[in-house]
Amino acid sequence: MRMHTALHLLSVVLPFPVTGGSVGEDKGRLDFDMPEVPNDLAALEARLNAMVEADHAVSTEWITDAEMEAKADLIKTMKVKPPMGQGRVRLVRIGDVDLQPCGGTHVAGTAEIGPLAIGKIEKKGKENRRVNLHFA
Ligand SMILES: [Zn+2]
Repeated sequence: MRMHTALHLLSVVLPFPVTGGSVGEDKGRLDFDMPEVPNDLAALEARLNAMVEADHAVSTEWITDAEMEAKADLIKTMKVKPPMGQGRVRLVRIGDVDLQPCGGTHVAGTAEIGPLAIGKIEKKGKENRRVNLHFA
């Protein structure tokens, strides 16, 4: 739950299309369609932790399938389409920093996540980078 929510924040500081990912208790990772490794990882990590410390409220809201179609730019995870066809789609909002369709379970406020550290960045193909995230 903490790490899953943290991955939302990772997708904020790395605004690239997400092509995959996994999450465990203590660590998580996202694969990005990102040809170059950012050279300011320390700054990205600082932004992540600033969002944690700001204790942004996490809330859910629902929109219709038609609204989802119209807001396709909210979809960050390319391979996992939001569950459409039931008439409505669940969006998860993290303060004013993130809004995306998600059916997962989240903390109520980002301060619950605690300090984060960006781990290894692995090359997973020409355009793909796997970014590991763990608790500091
Ligand atoms: Zn989520």
